[in-house]
Amino acid sequence: RAKSEGRNLYRFFEPGMDAMVQARRALEIDLETALPRQEFDLDFQPLMNIESGEIIGAEALMRWHSPARGTVVPDEFIPVAEETGLIVPLGEWALRKACAAAASWPAGVRIAVNVSAVQLRSAGFARSVISALAFSGVPAGQLELEITETVLMDESETVLKTLRQLRELGIRIALDDFGTGYSSLGYLRRFPVDKIKIDRSFIHDLGNHDTAAIVRTIIGLGAELGITVTAEGVETEAQLDILRGNGCVEAQGYLIGVPSKASDIQRLLKSRALHSQTG
Ligand code: C2E
Ligand code: MG
Ligand code: MG
Ligand code: MG
Repeated sequence: RAKSEGRNLYRFFEPGMDAMVQARRALEIDLETALPRQEFDLDFQPLMNIESGEIIGAEALMRWHSPARGTVVPDEFIPVAEETGLIVPLGEWALRKACAAAASWPAGVRIAVNVSAVQLRSAGFARSVISALAFSGVPAGQLELEITETVLMDESETVLKTLRQLRELGIRIALDDFGTGYSSLGYLRRFPVDKIKIDRSFIHDLGNHDTAAIVRTIIGLGAELGITVTAEGVETEAQLDILRGNGCVEAQGYLIGVPSKASDIQRLLKSRALHSQTG
């Protein structure tokens, strides 16, 4: 009797679990078909040089326009795509699409693409990057690959070798969401990095005395190490003023520009990008 009650109690929780597992499975199935059905798209968010006010690049941000689900944000589908392995072809698609868009931007404007740990560990990654550059005609020096600290938690020699190889080609490596991981400083010692992007949670909290001290320190650290520092999630003039006052090099956020369609970002770039040709 007690045993059957125990089982009933267990069952009581089971239907909910089933629903979650089923919802998750349905998402996996939808995701699997979304790539051949061309449901993915990229938005682009401008990156500004704080000192000059010029738009020096843009970050590609993936969007999933699902007929059944509406627009799904990356935080919902990227983790699933990573678990199923779909992130490898999906990430390759993003890289090609981003480079293709950047090919028609003014010379010198950079394109930043997010790369997941799973991609970086996959065998053909460096080759797929080289191929995307060659196919689009975008110079390696204009490509930035943004990786998060979770990528680096796997301290495999493979990842390190791949990063070195990409860097030797002139591709920049940016450490995304800097400050949120377990060992941000440790990674700076072990991995070749050209840029750090201060996580937007720090920028949001810049009015706080301690947070401001941390941000100032990160900016100083970047200067000492010769690493470009970008502030993510800049939403107010007050935040930008503090960052400017402390010598932060680059800013990104809704204040500067929201993620926008390729055609809109191209128009913006034509009016506000650095004019390397026209002077
Ligand atoms: P992330 O690379 O750190 O990108 C910045 C995120 O902050 C974007 O969210 C962007 O829309 C948002 N953001 C930008 N400015 C502001 C601001 O001023 N305020 C606020 N509150 N948010 C701002 P999004 O597009 O939802 O992307 C979320 C994350 O998904 C990205 O974080 C990135 O880690 C991942 N992701 C996006 N596209 C790709 C991709 O193609 N491949 C991979 N592997 N990951 C991607
Ligand atoms: Mg990023
Ligand atoms: Mg980030
Ligand atoms: Mg992020």
